[in-house]
Amino acid sequence: MIVIFLGPPGAGKGTQAAHIVERYAIPQLSTGDMLRAAVKAQTPVGVKAKAVMDSGKLVSDEIVGNIVSDRIGEADCANGFLLDGFPRTLVQAEMLDDILARKGLSVDAVIELKVDEAALIDRMRNRIRETKERGEELRADDNEETFAKRLGVYRDETAPLVPYYEKQGKLRAVDGMKTVAAVSAEIDAILDPIQAKK
Ligand code: ADP
Repeated sequence: MIVIFLGPPGAGKGTQAAHIVERYAIPQLSTGDMLRAAVKAQTPVGVKAKAVMDSGKLVSDEIVGNIVSDRIGEADCANGFLLDGFPRTLVQAEMLDDILARKGLSVDAVIELKVDEAALIDRMRNRIRETKERGEELRADDNEETFAKRLGVYRDETAPLVPYYEKQGKLRAVDGMKTVAAVSAEIDAILDPIQAKK
């Protein structure tokens, strides 16, 4: 089962991704995590991506497309995977469709987590406070200014994916303002029947 998670920064994709990984035994492919690992390891991609990520802008479609294409080819993706943070632009969505078509695969469902912007800003402030309280290091892009920038990028570049997947009949909206458990239940109700047909 191939599932895409769509939603603005702070919508709760990470929390729900963990639930899906466990329930359906598919890996989570987070381009944000993969890029942060590349930055940490100071690979050529990481060196290129760092400044772009820190400013809240998007890394090039080519770089991210290559990372995902390689990752999808790995053995643990044979039964499907959950894409988190990819695609983020229409070009990436088209790249993904091409990559999958070459393997005889296609996206099964796109789950759009809907959350209002005021709530997102609150959640982001909490995330920063809690991380500091735990004495952990903050992500370089976890500050209010960069967060506002990431929200803007989502609106401009990623939101157009909603009609793109609507046209393919794959978009399923979920109310991300409910409790974590209620959101998980909504997602299960969408994915269980798809999984049952696999
Ligand atoms: P969020 O917390 O907003 O979900 P991520 O952890 O997914 O953010 O990504 C952090 C940063 O990594 C993005 O702001 C962007 O610079 C880069 N990035 C992640 N995925 C992509 C992508 N698919 N295309 C371009 N840039 C990406």
